[in-house]
Amino acid sequence: MRGGPSRPPALQAFGIDARVLVPGYPGIMAALEEAEPVLDDPNLFGGGPARLWRGRLRGVRVRAYVLDCPGLYDRPGNPYLGPEGRDWPDNHRRFAALGWAAARLAGVPDGRPADPGWAPDLVHGHDWQAGLAPAYIRLAGSPVRTVMTIHNLAYQGWFPATVFPELGLPPGSFSIEGVEYYGGVGFLKAGLWYADRLTTVSRTYAQEIQGPEHGAGLDGLLRRRSADLVGIVNGADYEVWNPETDPALPQPFSAVAPAGKAAAKAALQARMGLPVTPDMPVFGVVSRLTGHKGLDLLLGAVQGLVDRGAQLVLLGSGDRDLEDGFELAARTWPRRVAVRLGYDETLSHLIEGGSDVIVVPSRSEPCGLTQIYALRYGALPLVRRTGGLADTVVDADPGTIAAGTATGFVFEEATVEALSAAIDRACALWQDRDLWSRLQRTAMAAEFGWPEAAAEYAAVYRGVMA
Ligand code: ADP
Repeated sequence: MRGGPSRPPALQAFGIDARVLVPGYPGIMAALEEAEPVLDDPNLFGGGPARLWRGRLRGVRVRAYVLDCPGLYDRPGNPYLGPEGRDWPDNHRRFAALGWAAARLAGVPDGRPADPGWAPDLVHGHDWQAGLAPAYIRLAGSPVRTVMTIHNLAYQGWFPATVFPELGLPPGSFSIEGVEYYGGVGFLKAGLWYADRLTTVSRTYAQEIQGPEHGAGLDGLLRRRSADLVGIVNGADYEVWNPETDPALPQPFSAVAPAGKAAAKAALQARMGLPVTPDMPVFGVVSRLTGHKGLDLLLGAVQGLVDRGAQLVLLGSGDRDLEDGFELAARTWPRRVAVRLGYDETLSHLIEGGSDVIVVPSRSEPCGLTQIYALRYGALPLVRRTGGLADTVVDADPGTIAAGTATGFVFEEATVEALSAAIDRACALWQDRDLWSRLQRTAMAAEFGWPEAAAEYAAVYRGVMA
C-alpha cells in the first residue's frame, strides 16, 4: 500500500505505537523477519490453515502482523486479480479474513486480544480491503475505536448478497444501516458505516466525495457522516524524492543551489532523444494512462504546446488508445515529443528533475503524488483544480505572484481549451526567467512530508479517543 510503510513510523514521533497488519502475500512472506506466531486458525474463512505472525518486514521500521494463510494469499501477481485480470472469486473471504484478524488483535470476540503482549486502542483501516474490520469490532460491542481511510472511492469492494452468510456477521447487519449496499455487501460501505471517524487523502477530495459527481454512490452516506470526515494529504517520502541526494540525477540540486537542475534537463533531453537545449521549456508527464488522469485532454493540447515552442516528455502505460495517441504524437513531432511506454522508476525521477513543468490534468485525483514530487524538484506543476492537486499547488496569478506564494498553474474545466490556456500561461511566464526562478524556489520549499501528515492523523486519533 502506497504510503503504508511511511505513515506508521511517522506516528511514533507522536508517542503512538503504530503497527501494521497485512495479508501474507508471497512478497510479504519473503520480507518477514523475527516472526513469532500469535494465533492459529485451522480453517480461516474456508481458506485452510492460517497463522498470524508478529514480526518485522524488511525495510519497514515498525512492527508488523502478517496474516499467513496460503489458501487465501499465496498467489502470484496482482493481489486482487487472477491471471485473466478478473477479481479472485473468493476476494470477499480473503479480505473478511483480514478484517477478522484486525478484530482479533483488538480483542474480539471474547475480550482477549490475539497478541497477549500488545493490543490496539484504535484500529485504522485503509480502503475496502479493510472495510469489515470496523464492522466486526463495533458489532461485537468492543470499546476499541476505529478510523477508516478512503484512498480512492472508485474501489468499493462490492459483492452479491449470497456471500453474506460466509462473512460471520450478525444477520441484522445486512441492512441499509449496516453492510448492505445496492442489494449486496459493500466492504467499503461497511467501513464507512461502522468506523468512528473517516479520513481521505486531501481536503478537497473530502468535499468532492460528498457530491454526486465524485461520490460514486456513497455521497449520501458521506454527507450524513460529514462531521466525522477529514482530508489529510498523503506525505511524500522525501528520503526517496530528494534532488539533493537522488542518484537518478546527473548532479544534485536544491532551492539554494539550483545549478544542477539545468544538467538534469539536458540529461533528460538527451535520454529521450530530443534536441538538448535550455531554450525550450520541457513539459513532463509520469502517469498511468487512464481516462480519470485526463491525458486525453493533453493529447488534444499537444499541437498547441508544440506551437508554443515547448517539448513534451511522457512516461506511462495504460489504455491502448492513449498509448497509441501519444506514440503517434511522438512520430508526428519527433524533435518535440518523446514517449516511453512502460514503468521505469529511474526515468520517472529524471523526468521530475529535468522538466520545467509537470502536467497532471486529472479529472479526479484523491491526493496525487507526482505533483508533490515535482514541487520538490523545481518542476512547476500544471494541474486541474481537483482533489489533492487543488490542495498542493498554488496557481500563479497576479495576487499569488505578488504574495510570493505561487508554485504552479491550476485550471478549472476538464477541457482541452482550459488545459491549453494553462499551457499558454506557463509558456508566457517561462519567458521571465527571474520570476520563474522565484516560483521554483517557493515550490521547492513547500512541505508535504509524513511528519506533517502524521501530526494530523495523531489529532484525529486523539479526537476519537477523547
Ligand atoms: P495514482 O496512484 O493514481 O497512479 P499518484 O500520483 O498518487 O497516482 O501516484 C503515482 C505514482 O506512480 C507516482 O509515484 C509516479 O511517479 C508513479 N508512476 C506512475 N506511472 C509510472 C511509470 N510509468 N513509471 C514509473 N513510475 C510511475
